[in-house]
Amino acid sequence: MISVRGLTAKYRLGRDTVTALDGIDLHIEPGQVFVLLGPSGCGKTTLLRCLAGLERPTSGQIEIEGAPLSDAETGLFIPPEDRPLAMVFQSYAMWPHMTVFDNVAFPLKAGRRRVPPHEVSDRVTEVLTLLGIDHLADRSVTTLSGGQQQRVGLARALALRPRVLLMDEPLSNLDFRLQVELRGQLRTLMHDLDLTTVHVTHNQAEALEMGDRIAVMDAGHVVQIGDPESIYHRPVDEHVARFVGDMNLIPGSVARWSDGTAQVLTASGTFLAMTADDTALSEGSRCFLGIRPADLVVPAPESASPETCMTVEIVNRRFQGDRMVFGLKAGDTTLEVSTHHSVRLGIGSTIQIQIPPDSAIAVIPTPENRAHGVTTV
Ligand code: ATP
Repeated sequence: MISVRGLTAKYRLGRDTVTALDGIDLHIEPGQVFVLLGPSGCGKTTLLRCLAGLERPTSGQIEIEGAPLSDAETGLFIPPEDRPLAMVFQSYAMWPHMTVFDNVAFPLKAGRRRVPPHEVSDRVTEVLTLLGIDHLADRSVTTLSGGQQQRVGLARALALRPRVLLMDEPLSNLDFRLQVELRGQLRTLMHDLDLTTVHVTHNQAEALEMGDRIAVMDAGHVVQIGDPESIYHRPVDEHVARFVGDMNLIPGSVARWSDGTAQVLTASGTFLAMTADDTALSEGSRCFLGIRPADLVVPAPESASPETCMTVEIVNRRFQGDRMVFGLKAGDTTLEVSTHHSVRLGIGSTIQIQIPPDSAIAVIPTPENRAHGVTTV
């Protein structure tokens, strides 16, 4: 459906050139909600703007449904209004002097994608009803709440009946409860409409909940593409492990590996762990033993085999309502374990915890050379 090959985008900043995207390859299937996830400045918005035609890539190609939209080699560049897509922005980008109805109708009346006048009203009413805001049609947009304005922004994009919807942090200006409510609604809506969606966010919970597939980005690169479960349980490197959910990372090195499991040598013993990618490992190379705070078993059951157990000191505890989080110390390493809120462990006591091999993962360090290239001329 959407195919991106070797996409590079550079910006000039005075005498400097910033490489915002560095050779991106992506394939997005029809009807998928595809999430671009990564920290601020990793290139998410630049990639979305290249898809929209608001930015001209320095090299590489973009195709939608087999039709080339941009090809830096041949100089082909289809302008935004001729691409079969619509975009929803973080700032709602409303025309403040217009009503809800007129904001949604405007792109249908003016410009390259206008439709016959008799169709305008039907299309606007259809999308306002779909999004449950038809009762607001005659209100001025300035009198709406943030959540209502964001629905108007979405209605305006959907009224164009795009084949691809691009969303740039559409929920980030909303309060937390509304964000959570809209995540589920948006995902259901996109699937009901069978709409291919590219959704940009830096919020990992939003990405995990909304995405059929997630591309985790770092410094202009796509580091890992996968479904939410594999991104969460099998991070390919430290960047993904740290960015997507909390993970304890115990420094160590690779002792041995085969067929998706590795032995990781740490200061507190050698532990068995899963691997995300055997080809990235080499004997003796630096690696972390990664385990999620909720996957540590505290205290270790009596039946646990000794080689899965680690001796730790309980150093602190934080009550978080539905759970209790304990800080643990193993040598120089600090760990966290998340338990049921009723669990009580004595601060200062030393206990055995278990690291179940099927919940642990050997995590390779973030490559040192992966940083935004800035060249000065
Ligand atoms: P955020 O989550 O903060 O929006 P992002 O992941 O969307 O970040 P981009 O906005 O794509 O990141 O920026 C990628 C890199 O390109 C950053 O280093 C940024 O400073 C740089 N950049 C983006 N736009 C421009 C511009 N117009 N001129 C120069 N540099 C730019």
